[in-house]
Amino acid sequence: MTDAAALNSFKAAAKILTWLEAIGCRKLPIDLDLVRQMLPDTPFGRGVVIKAPADLTWNGSEGALVRNPDNDKEWGIFVNPKARPERKRFTVAHELGHFILHRASQSVFNCDKESVYAGIDTLKQIEREADDFASHLLMPGDLLRDRIHGKRIDFRLLGALATEFGVSLESMCIRLVKYTEERVVLVYWDHGFEKYQWRSAEARKTRVRLKRTGDPQEPLPGTLAADDEIAQEWDGIDMSANAWCSSEADEITLRELKHTYTDGNRVLSLLMLESAPPRSGVVSGWEDEETRDTFDRFIDNGQLPVR
Ligand SMILES: [Zn+2]
Repeated sequence: MTDAAALNSFKAAAKILTWLEAIGCRKLPIDLDLVRQMLPDTPFGRGVVIKAPADLTWNGSEGALVRNPDNDKEWGIFVNPKARPERKRFTVAHELGHFILHRASQSVFNCDKESVYAGIDTLKQIEREADDFASHLLMPGDLLRDRIHGKRIDFRLLGALATEFGVSLESMCIRLVKYTEERVVLVYWDHGFEKYQWRSAEARKTRVRLKRTGDPQEPLPGTLAADDEIAQEWDGIDMSANAWCSSEADEITLRELKHTYTDGNRVLSLLMLESAPPRSGVVSGWEDEETRDTFDRFIDNGQLPVR
């Protein structure tokens, strides 16, 4: 993600929250219908109408934002009718993000499941920006900070916050990973294989790396993620960080939390690692290192990468 992109998404969401505050409506859960209706009276949507969200009638998309071909002053938001309410909210916020940030460049935004929600680095930039916008708007940083300050992070707390903010547990966990100054890794498993992985800035800085089992990645032996008998571990269990990461010193511990979704096929693993000093050395055994981390390492060493 470029800094400018993050700044734009963040600034746009922050501005809307300021406007909501001014009319006494900066309350949780954020009222997206109110946001949609207020936009035509703001610099973000002057004179343009956004119609109330309607059901998507085509398959393969989670949401869409479409300009009326007969009236360029009217836009419509469409949402997958089968999605859960909190997911629909995130999708609407994502489409509002496209409306504010990107409508000058496109008249149709068709957003699939991967685009809305995942916020992973391989997504197209505009999808990441729309996700970041939705995340900042629905989970304002100051309110989140108030609620987690000094508290032990576990799935009970995150689940209660997800309900209060009107988002999914997964969405709240992704927000935590992006916000926290701790070393945190979130892994989303689908039918026993890793689908997404997010690492906090501190985890990346200290080179937290999960051991590889192959491609695709499977849960590591000895971890809760690999234990089919345990579906939920919302408080978390302490273990040696080595169970997950060969890059961690023996004495470093990690708390593993596990949530299995009701369909039984999807699992969230949240790993809270003890703090460790930043490292700049190359850790052997990671042939599949991502470009971003190579870049980080050069920066850590005070060198600019040659590209
Ligand atoms: Zn999108």
